Amino acid sequence: MTAPTTESKIELSIIVPAYNEEAVLPIFHQQIIDIIKPLNISYEVIYVNDGSRDNTEAIILALQNECPEIAYAKFSRNFGKEAAMTAGFKLCRGESAIMIDADLQDPPTLIPAMLDAWRNGADIVNMKRSERHGEPMWKKVTANMFYHLIGKISEVEIPHNVGDFRLFSRRAINAINQLSERGRFMKGLYAWVGYQQATIEYERDARAAGDTKWPFFKLVGLAWQGITAFSTAPLQMATWLGLASAGSAFTYASYFLIKSIVKPDIVQGFPTLIVVILFLGGLQLFCIGILGEYLARIYTEVKQRPVYLIETFYPAK
Ligand code: UDP
Ligand code: MG
Repeated sequence: MTAPTTESKIELSIIVPAYNEEAVLPIFHQQIIDIIKPLNISYEVIYVNDGSRDNTEAIILALQNECPEIAYAKFSRNFGKEAAMTAGFKLCRGESAIMIDADLQDPPTLIPAMLDAWRNGADIVNMKRSERHGEPMWKKVTANMFYHLIGKISEVEIPHNVGDFRLFSRRAINAINQLSERGRFMKGLYAWVGYQQATIEYERDARAAGDTKWPFFKLVGLAWQGITAFSTAPLQMATWLGLASAGSAFTYASYFLIKSIVKPDIVQGFPTLIVVILFLGGLQLFCIGILGEYLARIYTEVKQRPVYLIETFYPAK
């Protein structure tokens, strides 16, 4: 495998994570070439095949025969989009890199504008979605809720409605490559890097072909990953919940103490007892659960397993 060098002459690397994208890859590549060729810059297009089970590999290899600017990396299995992007950052040789989805939801027509922003000094060009076409209502609503929540509790400011479609300068890429954590919530890592950030707004299109690879439960997993990686608020919440319930238990106890003195009655209060026991039991389990979530993440980090395994890599010629 060739190690990426900072002295490389390549101006732009396009990084494309691809998982079962046979339906859309040929159109995608054609569009990318149509946009980049007229710009007269040196470039490479890196396809990271994230363990696809369809004809994605055959299609990329055929494209690579025609187009020497293509680099191709194949994972040993499906490691997820965050891992595929991580590999793309490690492998790319460009002075700048654009992360783009294979399904044409991120319009390649915006690439020239992104390059302009980079030449004007931006290290990360954030592409903000003003409109999300072809996405169900629940996805828009839950995405909004997520950005709102993480904006409130995260240690770094994660911009709203900016996905992975962004441009990165070489120094931003080098910074991201230094972040060695296993739990890779890329949107958080991008924000953590800082440097000069610019924002361009665009309307997000519907998928050109094929299906989304992000079912609801996978998105929830990613959201939770983001929250636990960039905030300790849930852990602190346990303290506050504990204080609140202890406080209310104390108030309640005082009330009963006074009541039993004023009007003694032993049998009454049994339902209250059950309610309090259940409430506290639930609360404790909930807090232990949150501790467990962080513990599980520490466990994943200390194991120090690589984020992905590359089975084959064919660099651009
Ligand atoms: N993807 C990937 N690995 C996965 C899931 C998705 O590399 O496990 C890629 C996929 O091929 C696409 C991009 O990530 O290029 C975005 O996926 P998708 O369009 O399914 O996500 P959505 O746009 O629905 O959020
Ligand atoms: Mg998509």
